[in-house]
Amino acid sequence: MIEAPALKGRIVLDEVIPARAPWDHAVRKGETLRIIDLEGNQAVDFLLYALADDAVRYSAQDTIAAQRNIFLRTGTVLLSNEGTAMARITGTTVAYHDTIGGACSCESNTLRYGHHTKAQHACVENFLHANARYGRGKRDMVSNINWFMNVPVEADGTLGIVDGISAPGLYVDLEAQMDLVAVISNCPQINNPCNGFKPTPIRVVISSPRAPQS
Ligand SMILES: [Zn+2]
Repeated sequence: MIEAPALKGRIVLDEVIPARAPWDHAVRKGETLRIIDLEGNQAVDFLLYALADDAVRYSAQDTIAAQRNIFLRTGTVLLSNEGTAMARITGTTVAYHDTIGGACSCESNTLRYGHHTKAQHACVENFLHANARYGRGKRDMVSNINWFMNVPVEADGTLGIVDGISAPGLYVDLEAQMDLVAVISNCPQINNPCNGFKPTPIRVVISSPRAPQS
C-alpha cells in the first residue's frame, strides 16, 4: 500500500464506499476531496454539480477543450458547462484519468456483453440512485469522469478499456473551486478489466481549511 501524504486542514469526512455502491456529498469551496483506490484497479465514476444550482454541472467537453488534452492529470481544472472552474486536481499518484469512456449501464452491458448481464448493477443506476435525493433524473446525467480507469486512445482514434493503471493506495485530490455536490458510482462492472473483474471498496476523505462552526 502506498501511503498518501497527510491532507492539510481539518478532516470533516473519512469513509469507505463499499464495492458497487453509490455515494454523494457536498464539498465546499476550498475543501479537498481525496479519493483512494484501496485495493487497486477500481474505476470510480464521478459527477459534479454546483450546490447552489445543479444546472451548472461538470462538462467533459469544456474541460478537454480548455486544456487541449483528453486526460485528467495534476493541475487539470474541471470546468462546468458554463466554463467556470468547479475543482482542480491538486495531486494524484496515477499517471492520468479518463473522462471520455462514459459510465456503464444495464443497456450498454446488454449490447456489449449479452442479455444475461441485464440484471447486473451498473454505474448509471448508481448515479440515478444518488441523484434522486436532489430531484435529478436521467436528463441530468452528463459525461462523467472515470478516476483510475485506463482508456488509452490509439493512433487511429480507437478507445481501449484495458487493465487499470492504478494500484493499492493510489489517490487523487480535488480542491473545490465552488460549493459542489460530488456524486460517485463505485463501478460494479464485472464484464471488462476496468475493475480487474472484481469490484472493490474505495475511501473518500474531505478536509477543510476552516475551523469548525460553533
Ligand atoms: Zn461502471
